Amino acid sequence: MLPINGIQLLYQSSIRFVQPKSEPCRTGDDSPRLSSAQPSERLKQHGSQPTMSKKKKTRVEFRRNRAKPPRENDITRQFATDAERTEDAHSTERVRAKGELSRHRTVTVGDGDGTGRAVNPDVCQPGRVLRVHGLNSYVEVADGRVFRCVVRRLLKTLATDERSVVTTGDRVWIQPDQVIPNPAEPTGVIERVEPRHGVLTRASRRREHVLVANVDQVVIVMALVEPELKQHLIDRYIATALKGELQPIVCLNKADLADAAEYQPLIGAYAQLGIPAFLTSARTGIGIERLRRLLRDRATVFSGQSGVGKSSLLNAVQPELGLRVREVSDTTQKGQHTTTTAELIRLESGGWVVDTPGVRQLQLWGTRPEEVEGYFVEFHPFVPLCGFPDCTHTHENCCAIRAAVSRRQISERRYHSYLGLFHGVAEG
Ligand code: GDP
Ligand code: ZN
Repeated sequence: MLPINGIQLLYQSSIRFVQPKSEPCRTGDDSPRLSSAQPSERLKQHGSQPTMSKKKKTRVEFRRNRAKPPRENDITRQFATDAERTEDAHSTERVRAKGELSRHRTVTVGDGDGTGRAVNPDVCQPGRVLRVHGLNSYVEVADGRVFRCVVRRLLKTLATDERSVVTTGDRVWIQPDQVIPNPAEPTGVIERVEPRHGVLTRASRRREHVLVANVDQVVIVMALVEPELKQHLIDRYIATALKGELQPIVCLNKADLADAAEYQPLIGAYAQLGIPAFLTSARTGIGIERLRRLLRDRATVFSGQSGVGKSSLLNAVQPELGLRVREVSDTTQKGQHTTTTAELIRLESGGWVVDTPGVRQLQLWGTRPEEVEGYFVEFHPFVPLCGFPDCTHTHENCCAIRAAVSRRQISERRYHSYLGLFHGVAEG
């Protein structure tokens, strides 16, 4: 399973208690109403901000790359077989051949969750993996140059089933090669991968593969008409986004074809949950400036059924962008480039759009039924008040959620979405 810290956090706020049998149901009439700030605050706590992980600097013994080990027990080889040992290696490693190896260096150390422990900031620089193609990862650094990088062999030994060493979207440290024959294509080596948040995954052969890391948000595109708006689908996409620790944003597109006023209550309902929702039209330009602002400096994936206008919206944000996204996914669907994974595409106005063939229709993969309530933020204040600690909110008496629905404190529409998801997930 992938780390789902965010979800665990949601559960922390849902500590429940069992009601004594003799007492009548207390289903939360006096319970607090959900403030609109809550969900986004919670997302912030999940670390969905596009910041590098916390690091501290430390002095370590520095051994020069590729220096031949004078000792018989080759520590580099031990690393290859025993990843654990890398953790203490820097503190136990001793001075080697005189003059070459005994220098001290200040290095940046991550919070222990990343891959590859220490880097030397004198020779390394931070970057972002735009795409991975075979053994090459294309890493963009601060000055906009893109380096074709291989992965330091040591890091590869730290890969696990759930964690490929380097994936699109990773924040990494690279050491640029000293000799670069072709300045148009600088090359380097990935030395460290920072801890990930907001991962998009794909199930394949009963395993979950990380397609993109460090995605900040999902723009859920729905058309008001053509195809007809399916409100429960919005809730499904929102739940999926929250499961992945991504901020959902709802675009109700093709606003030029419908009566906008009719949708204000729906938009208001999402705003109350801390989820930006607004009308857009790729045709007339309604909402495009707002969308562009929301995309700035963040990594965003566009999701939604085919035909709702994802490509058209991307083109409205930046001409040719939708076209490019479509080309990539088309070739992938035909299986021509099986090694092509997701790609980050730089926006001229700042930020990245993530092209993720295959995950347009996000699925709540690997979700347990009891997790579903966690993705319905407005349920949270009421969940502790349910009569049974394992209340499923589907049929139980003394269910505070059902009581809140009948008091119209929770929307009936959202509750039905919950039921649909709960049963869908339960059936597998
Ligand atoms: P995608 O499959 O989600 O990428 O959808 P497309 O961007 O290919 O759009 C599907 C169809 O809807 C195309 O014929 C577009 O011209 C049309 N379309 C997209 N956005 C709008 C819009 O805002 N208004 C109108 N009237 N049509 C739109
Ligand atoms: Zn309940």
